[in-house]
Amino acid sequence: MAEQLTFKTESKRLLHLMINSIYTNKEIFLRELISNASDAIDKYHLLSLTDDKLEKTNDYEIRLEVNKKKRTLTISDNGIGMTHDDLVNNLGTIAKSGTLEFLKNLKKEDAKNIDLIGQFGVGFYSAFMVSSKVEVRTKSPYSETGYLWTSEGEESFTIEEIAKPDRGTVVTLFLRKNEEEDTYDEFLEDYKISSLVKKYSDYVRYPIKMDQETEKPKFDKDGKEIEGKFETVVETKILNKMTPIWSKSKAEVKPEELNEFYKNTYYDYTDPLLTVWTDVEGALTYKAIVFIPAKAPYNLYSEKYEKGLQLYAKGVFVMDKCKELIPDYLRFAKGLVVSPDLSLNISREILQHNRQLIKIAANLEKKILSELEKMLKNDREKYETFWKQFGVDLKYGVYDNYGEKKESLQDLLLFATVNGDKPMTLKEYVEKMPADQKEIYYGSASSKDQIVVSPQMDLLKSKGYDVLVLTDDVDEFMIRILHEYDKHEFKSINQGDLNLVDETEKETVKNLESTNKTLLEALQAVLASEVKEVKLSTRLTDSPVCLVSGEGLSFEMEKVINQMPGEKNLKADKILEINPKHDLFRAITSVHAQEPALLEDYAWVLYNQALLIEGLPISDPVGFANKMVKLLIKAAPSQQ
Ligand code: ADP
Repeated sequence: MAEQLTFKTESKRLLHLMINSIYTNKEIFLRELISNASDAIDKYHLLSLTDDKLEKTNDYEIRLEVNKKKRTLTISDNGIGMTHDDLVNNLGTIAKSGTLEFLKNLKKEDAKNIDLIGQFGVGFYSAFMVSSKVEVRTKSPYSETGYLWTSEGEESFTIEEIAKPDRGTVVTLFLRKNEEEDTYDEFLEDYKISSLVKKYSDYVRYPIKMDQETEKPKFDKDGKEIEGKFETVVETKILNKMTPIWSKSKAEVKPEELNEFYKNTYYDYTDPLLTVWTDVEGALTYKAIVFIPAKAPYNLYSEKYEKGLQLYAKGVFVMDKCKELIPDYLRFAKGLVVSPDLSLNISREILQHNRQLIKIAANLEKKILSELEKMLKNDREKYETFWKQFGVDLKYGVYDNYGEKKESLQDLLLFATVNGDKPMTLKEYVEKMPADQKEIYYGSASSKDQIVVSPQMDLLKSKGYDVLVLTDDVDEFMIRILHEYDKHEFKSINQGDLNLVDETEKETVKNLESTNKTLLEALQAVLASEVKEVKLSTRLTDSPVCLVSGEGLSFEMEKVINQMPGEKNLKADKILEINPKHDLFRAITSVHAQEPALLEDYAWVLYNQALLIEGLPISDPVGFANKMVKLLIKAAPSQQ
């Protein structure tokens, strides 16, 4: 008895969207199904290495078959197959979360250029673009019996038990009838199938076999060729080259070929930004091809993203995502490592301690970084594209493991700065420093504009010092780890003392502070719950007040840390600085002398104003507004 099940709602909608509107390049269904077949064989192979119950074999193959009369195309594999639950879970839900949302928002024109199907793993369903019905016969080595899954793609599917002695999966497509411009007949033609395999699946590492008709010369009874006479015979052909791309030498492989390989193997729709091919022979022999994508994978920052390179030992596929081969900060890199020196049966635990593997990983890391350095030097525009996509990862790399990698990464960092439009390296910043500038200044905020207009910039602007703009969460943490560059320490414009004025000016401000001691103490007393100190500023020229933090935690770090789960309520020390040269300072002095009752309102207004400029929330907006209103009324010319 067949059991009837319905697709999950999201799947239904996606299926509909996909079949009827979005995807135009329907021929890719074959690539998707072949790639599923190849994945299924990989899975079987990997399991057979560790599970003694599974037969060890090398008879892996993918078979294609057409039946013109029935209008069917069949793709079979002898891979892992599916159990009943696998069928329900894998073929009953199409979309991985977020896919539908993405598809809905996508414009039709864009859709043509994007290989959505591969990218989002809705691969199997592409079968419905060309089929009115799909049957899947499958048997897993882990279930007693085989199953037949059938669907016409609309609402539901059925599953029933069938007898299927051999493991693996047979997918039968019942091709759609031709409709005006949409024709499907070509998918029944040998030449078409051969050319699709060549185009999309040439590097699949298992033979893709198909019985095809060929014309052969006829022979007579004595075995002599009869001139001009041919007969049609059916021969099993292997349609794909299979020779892995790395079996050739680097010089033999054209860049376009490498790009195609990348796109097909790692499901990207754009050429890679950088390809690093290394061939090492010696005590440790290996070949590695590493690609840096032109765009960050859509799920790079999701928890599900798995970094790693494919690993082949002695030409045999061992692992899909070997994470030991690539450091976290290069997690976006894709590619493979082939080494005859590694043993086949390496398990996860052994891998972590495998000396050869650690060595390969270290060499690769060095090589990738040196290629990036080259790019930075020779093709700045390209490097900036790279930086936009993956700069944040490199910054985490500096920060990780207490700055273990800072030496090798610091010259790859780019920073926006207050004075320039183009991002610059630390080296460039230092080269441009005026002779009297000792430290590297940085400002931290949510946008560059906020830093440009901040009161703390007053003095730096007047001195012509440039300031690094830090807007990423990780930035300040990274700067703390770097600590200095080329013997110049990093100095926040929003923190501590800037040390920028000469001794006489310092002396003047000091004297002013002692003459205004009671005023400063009175302000401090009002704001005691909020600020650690109220002092006169040496950093301000045009602005009346500003808020700076103490030498420890900065305001931006406070924000970042408090957003993280767990640790909460860490506070940066706040220091309110008042500009003694500003008219406002004289105004407060006279308020303090003549109308001290008003000083409290002044203190709160000043403080809240400083918070606003800093982009920090004010805790009592209504109280602030009321005080402003009170002062505004007071300041107005006297009314009748
Ligand atoms: P993806 O391959 O990206 O995961 P698909 O929609 O192509 O997405 O396939 C969904 C799932 O169905 C696969 O992940 C796999 O578990 C299973 N599957 C598809 N084809 C086969 C097959 N030929 N053999 C075994 N399992 C398969």
